Amino acid sequence: MQQVAINGYGTIGKRVADAVRQQPDMEVLGVAKTRPNFEAETAIDKGFPLYAAVEERAELFAEAGLDIAGPVEELVADADVVVDATPSGIGAQNKALYEEYDTPALYQGGEDADLADVSFNARSNFEDAVDADHVRVVSCNTTGLSRVIAPLREAYGVEKVRATLVRRGGDPGQTSRGPINDILPNPVTIPSHHGPDVETIFPDLDIDTLGMKVPATLMHMHSLNVTLEEAVDDAAVRDLFADESRLFLIPERMNIDGSGKLKEYALDAGRPRGDVWENCIWEESISTVGDDLYLFQGIHQESDVVPENVDAVRAVTGVADADESIETTDESLGIGL
Ligand code: NAD
Repeated sequence: MQQVAINGYGTIGKRVADAVRQQPDMEVLGVAKTRPNFEAETAIDKGFPLYAAVEERAELFAEAGLDIAGPVEELVADADVVVDATPSGIGAQNKALYEEYDTPALYQGGEDADLADVSFNARSNFEDAVDADHVRVVSCNTTGLSRVIAPLREAYGVEKVRATLVRRGGDPGQTSRGPINDILPNPVTIPSHHGPDVETIFPDLDIDTLGMKVPATLMHMHSLNVTLEEAVDDAAVRDLFADESRLFLIPERMNIDGSGKLKEYALDAGRPRGDVWENCIWEESISTVGDDLYLFQGIHQESDVVPENVDAVRAVTGVADADESIETTDESLGIGL
């Protein structure tokens, strides 16, 4: 049983904790938080040992009536792997702590790529992270793009990727984010940082990305154009994608016209928090014109990196190969809509 610590129990951390708990070969050793907010109370209710991420704030938890199991140092020292799911930039500050206790660490996409030995997407480069000490699980958008690009590269070769990312302004719980009535080119410079981030997974890929932000919280939407190395029939691409467990092809019959209905479907299906771990590709949008492939996909930013974190735990501990890990993760979470 791998003992997994989670440092940073917010949007990503709490989901990773629940997912780790569902694995047959892992346990949540504890979760660390800075503040005694509603998420801290839920962690206690779920029976996760709660550790204080910042020593000076430990007494705030006592004042709120929440029992602390110890300081984060103790958690890191005892863990086989730590998943750092703290806000962007804090993971870099925490690296010294993980090194001090010689505990392999997973960081999230908000950290710079050069913080880690390898940037990770299970479908694309699982083997690169085997036995690594510092691994960055790439962002929600990079995860979503990598999952589509990997099979296309293997099947047909990819000459060039062009992607426009229509990004949600903030997560549902991020009350201070925006815009609330605008459409922003964001970043306004081209290409956006997303393309270079995908190149941390596929160093030889030619990819340009453009970003926008819109008043939405539910999901990101990608408009994708991939120039393949050969002309391919769109039915063949649909068949290729149908074999990928983390690509959900939305069938026309379901009448799902956007991210609202996708989330509603996930909630109806009994998904925890209405999470959609898979890329959601509108099947009808998959179109080819000569060598060019086009499609639309929805990416649930809060959850698509969750199974990737679980797989990264197995990679750094060397307990399973890519296929075994992905299969175990998918089966235990119920991935595959
Ligand atoms: P979040 O703000 O929801 O959660 C971060 C948690 O870490 C909060 O509970 C915060 O209190 C806690 N924290 C702050 N400082 C800490 C410290 N020093 N030690 C321990 N905990 C601390 O953030 P998030 O959305 O979960 O993002 C975490 C990381 O995941 C970032 O790198 C982000 O870029 C990445 N990410 C976020 C999303 C998303 O859409 N939310 C998607 C993919 C990747």
